[in-house]
Amino acid sequence: FSALNLDELTAQRDRALSDYDALVRRGLSLDLTRGKPSARQLDLAAAMLTLPSGHTAADGTDCRNYGGPQGLPEVRAMFSRLLQVPVAQLVAANNSSLSLMHDSIVHAMLGRLPGSERRWADEPRIAFLCPVPGYDRHFALSERFGIELIAVPMDDEGPDMDVVERLVREDAQVKGIWCVPKYSNPSGVSYGEETVRRLAAMPAAAPDFRIFWDNAYAVHHLTDTPVEIADILALCAENGNPDRAFVFGSTSKITFAGGGVAFFGSSPANVAWMTGNTGKRTIGPDKINHLRHVEFLRDEDGVLEHMRRHRELIRPKFEAVDLILTKELGGTGLASWSSPLGGYFISLDVLEGCARQVVSRAAGAGIALTPAGATHPYGDDPRDSTIRIAPTYPELDEVELAISGLATCVRLVGTEKLLERAR
Ligand code: PMP
Repeated sequence: FSALNLDELTAQRDRALSDYDALVRRGLSLDLTRGKPSARQLDLAAAMLTLPSGHTAADGTDCRNYGGPQGLPEVRAMFSRLLQVPVAQLVAANNSSLSLMHDSIVHAMLGRLPGSERRWADEPRIAFLCPVPGYDRHFALSERFGIELIAVPMDDEGPDMDVVERLVREDAQVKGIWCVPKYSNPSGVSYGEETVRRLAAMPAAAPDFRIFWDNAYAVHHLTDTPVEIADILALCAENGNPDRAFVFGSTSKITFAGGGVAFFGSSPANVAWMTGNTGKRTIGPDKINHLRHVEFLRDEDGVLEHMRRHRELIRPKFEAVDLILTKELGGTGLASWSSPLGGYFISLDVLEGCARQVVSRAAGAGIALTPAGATHPYGDDPRDSTIRIAPTYPELDEVELAISGLATCVRLVGTEKLLERAR
């Protein structure tokens, strides 16, 4: 559209405006804000509601009782390869990996991490690197503990490693980096081998620097050719930084988002640190839930088979988004978007300075989107251009309606912006 003359552009804007007015008159009420599984996806695990059938673990443990701080060995074995963590170094906990990330930060604040010179609470300043676009809950969690957030750009292979290496080498107050290494939230990017190797090997000024490796979408493939990422724990160990990475994952988007099993994996020293700390706050995780997951998912193949059923439900939604955006916005130059191979999100980039207005126009038409800026630290996307689309929760026809409405908003705000620039 940037090649159009003023009259043509005005005509396009007028058409978009009348489409938008018609959209508002429809009185829609649609929600694309959060990456939640739909009720149908949750139904896939309905059988779990009547499990476990027994209460005895393979080693004879009575799961009804206290104990087992590291979680049931059989649920850890089931996810060991999928999360690329040796069984002995994997902890199975309760229902939320986000809470394990939270606790890791709190324990590092209030006690000393392996390799730490002092508690993080005693540091003059703590900073975390945040590849952008990224996950708003990572940012909110860090902010809540006064951690300074430093945005780092991402490309198709993950964070810009020249920037990461420089900041981590030069600033001893940079203590962490948030990574969603596979089918990243929201761009869908998976980290390339070289990126992972450089993260594992780079020199760090802080002796207690940690990679928060949030592998939330490890098995959430949308295609027949699953993406494989390099093994961060093995690479850290090989490069003399065995304690550098904390691996997180969960079954929130495999079984029940509110009733899954979360995992923490790391070096033996970090695992001892974590279970030592956790042992002060609980006399053991919910092993009944671990057993329920083992009975239902059975083994690694069972997990992958179950994920194929999810894929059957959600892939049509991702395809619909791509199809509608291509039809309505393809070739206009008003937007570009990701075509993820897995995960839960599509990232839509509109013209610079337009994202907030698009989200607000969409709200005006009854289409709720994640606030613009949420993909960046402090809710501040300096280019004001990234919008996160979460298509899994609504029914397919609702996704179609919402995306076609969103495309109308992009056309309206985009043509207005181009007119403003042309004048
Ligand atoms: N990490 C990422 C990247 C996510 O997208 C989500 C859910 N939206 C979570 C963590 C939350 O995980 P959990 O349910 O295990 O707390």
